Amino acid sequence: MSDVRNVIIIGSGPAGYTAALYTARASLKPLVFEGAVTAGGALMNTTEVENFPGFQDGIMGPELMDNMRAQAERFGAELVPDDIVNVDLTGEIKTVTDTSGTVHRAKAVIVTTGSQHRKLGLPNEDALSGRGVSWCATCDGFFFKDQDIAVIGGGDTAMEEATFLSRFAKSVTIVHRRDTLRASKAMQERAFADPKIKFVWDSEVAEIQGDPKLQGLKLRNLKTGELSDLAVTGLFIAIGHDPRTELFKGQLELDGEGYLKVEAPSTRTNLTGVFGAGDVVDHTYRQAITAAGTGCAAALDAERFLAALA
Ligand code: FAD
Repeated sequence: MSDVRNVIIIGSGPAGYTAALYTARASLKPLVFEGAVTAGGALMNTTEVENFPGFQDGIMGPELMDNMRAQAERFGAELVPDDIVNVDLTGEIKTVTDTSGTVHRAKAVIVTTGSQHRKLGLPNEDALSGRGVSWCATCDGFFFKDQDIAVIGGGDTAMEEATFLSRFAKSVTIVHRRDTLRASKAMQERAFADPKIKFVWDSEVAEIQGDPKLQGLKLRNLKTGELSDLAVTGLFIAIGHDPRTELFKGQLELDGEGYLKVEAPSTRTNLTGVFGAGDVVDHTYRQAITAAGTGCAAALDAERFLAALA
């Protein structure tokens, strides 16, 4: 068993590295578990990031995350490329266990484990991520000016993505598995009224085509089994996200969709000394800058909590 640390951070996206930077600069010597295979978080899987302030020509996602990592390390954050597989956050001293079974202890824990966008599960989906396939219209819409785009999904997010994309796109085709939408009435009406948006009902994507960039989709009608081609150079998958909160069930309070609940505008969870930030909390904004912003807030909340203990 290790010594008791001031703060342990679980997760290494923009929220985790920002929390690490701030707590390191406050001389709290944070221990950061970055994840075993996905250190750096969601932006490690993308190409150009054009909306993170401070980079007027944009920056590649992995480079941005390497910079954040190096900046946190420069001030003394201890970074471990491993997963946390067990936690006990209920006591005054929190414990987290890594994959080797080593138990680490701390007075405060910041949870920044992010969320996983749901995938279609098709070959080519990952290979064409950032090359036509996207999960975020706010992030990537601008790259698809005057192009034909497909949006997959039938909920509020899919309608929101489609109406946002129609500002840039030549056309937006919403492909949905059913013949009715799950989205709220207001969102549906906005989409139906948009002359650039059309719908393909009762259909799923059977194939994502293109190399090295997306060139089109093969669609399957679920009622008739009929296959058809849809020529698009953009594919936005909007079928939901799963926050990574499995580890915390039964200890930290989660909302109906499994996101970590915090006492907003603070980052305090229901357990004293445990804070949450980034996409594991946020199902509204889901941006690198908002994750970094709440990561900063969590670090400041943890710092104040620790100061009050002293
Ligand atoms: P994440 O970045 O998801 O990081 C969470 C980290 O926690 C991961 O490294 C994971 O491995 C780790 N982790 C999880 N569980 C454990 C555990 N048990 N132990 C240890 N570590 C763990 N946003 C923008 O602002 N601009 C963009 O251009 C943009 N492009 C995007 C492109 C793609 C393809 C995707 C998927 C997202 C994009 N986003 C973009 C959204 C942005 O990436 C997210 O909003 C942001 O990364 C969320 O940061 P986070 O720190 O909350 O979580």
